[in-house]
Amino acid sequence: MEHFELCITGAGVIGLAIAERLSKTLSAKYTILLIDQHSSVGQETSSRNSEVIHAGIYYPKGSLKARLCREGNALLYNYCQQFEIAYRQTGKLIIAQDGEQSSLEKIAKQANENGVTDLREIDRQTLHALEPSVTGAHALLSPTTGIIDSHGFMQRLLQQAESRGVQFAGLTQVLEVKRHTKGFEVLCESGDKNNRQTYRFSCTAFINAAGLQAQQLAQKIESLSTNNIPQVHWYKGSYFKLNKRIKLQHLVYPVPEHSNIGLGVHATLDLAGGVRFGPDVEAVAEKDYAVNPMRAKQFAEAIRRYIPGINSDDLVPDYAGIRPKLHRATEPVQDFVIQSQADHGIAGLIQLFGIESPGLTASLAIAQYVDAELAQN
Ligand SMILES: Cc1cc2nc3c(=O)[nH]c(=O)nc-3n(C[C@H](O)[C@H](O)[C@H](O)COP(=O)(O)OP(=O)(O)OC[C@H]3O[C@@H](n4cnc5c(N)ncnc54)[C@H](O)[C@@H]3O)c2cc1C
Repeated sequence: MEHFELCITGAGVIGLAIAERLSKTLSAKYTILLIDQHSSVGQETSSRNSEVIHAGIYYPKGSLKARLCREGNALLYNYCQQFEIAYRQTGKLIIAQDGEQSSLEKIAKQANENGVTDLREIDRQTLHALEPSVTGAHALLSPTTGIIDSHGFMQRLLQQAESRGVQFAGLTQVLEVKRHTKGFEVLCESGDKNNRQTYRFSCTAFINAAGLQAQQLAQKIESLSTNNIPQVHWYKGSYFKLNKRIKLQHLVYPVPEHSNIGLGVHATLDLAGGVRFGPDVEAVAEKDYAVNPMRAKQFAEAIRRYIPGINSDDLVPDYAGIRPKLHRATEPVQDFVIQSQADHGIAGLIQLFGIESPGLTASLAIAQYVDAELAQN
């Protein structure tokens, strides 16, 4: 049976960042296999998001989300500069209407507690000067928020990992992980749908970075207690493109909703200058990425709170992504869960659960974190 030192399951941005990091820090004799059920990398949540480099404003103090987002933000800008990934530090405006100023104060306080100390308060006149299309009574400006070409980023991570010997196995689904004298024995099925073949290999360490399906994969790991598998709740977020021209320089967010799921339908920019709105929040049980055009009416209502004059006819269905949440809309916000031997007692096993937003921003910091955890195993 073929043996690898490390198997990473899931080639979204998290699996890729881990593969890139470990191919650099582990000795060259370590063989690393990166597996994904799709033929190419980043086909699920990692290519279905807002592509925003977050500053780390909203997350609870001391949480992994707060810490890894802030660290990841700096690492990601550096990476983009060093390896010529397209990005733009647009800045972001959080808009409060009359009567909502206390929400902005809470956000500013939370940001400060998280070490994000560069938010600026903006009054109505300054907001108008910065963004004439946007209306609001007050705003907060986050200068370190930006946008990134997430596809270019993932391709570069893959290229760097492969150049250091990482093997990528696409069209390969991990079916089962058994305990083995050398660590783990992994059963996979590979090939296209007319020619599927099973394949077994062993590995010393196994990383579960399977995103939406991390819980499903964890259930296939022999002798892992179900107590170590947090429940997942899928929440879809749809996006609509704007089909008329408005000039926006910044990302524009309303004050967040009270649902504990999303930040509210906001305006993001793509690197070509197009404006897109989303994501909304819809609990789903199936992986269905179709955008329902009927939602345009609700979108237009939400957007008119800060950009007047937008109608449902101005919006075109774009794409959708699904968040792997560890809480429901009515429950307290949960943190990223990254488990290692100290949590579940299995040497060489790292599992990542609930890697929702700001996972893209935090990806390089998550990879550093996993590297440190693995070194202690
Ligand atoms: C609507 C939305 C908006 C977001 N906006 C932002 C944002 O603006 N900024 C930000 O920082 N973050 C954002 N995020 C979060 C970010 O997109 C995610 O945190 C990140 O993409 C998660 O990456 P991942 O690698 O964990 O998951 P994924 O990209 O889903 O990758 C997991 C991979 O595992 C593979 N897989 C699963 N099971 C198996 C198996 N058994 N065998 C083989 N392969 C398997 C899948 O095929 C998949 O490719 C957003 C998320 C959503 C849903």
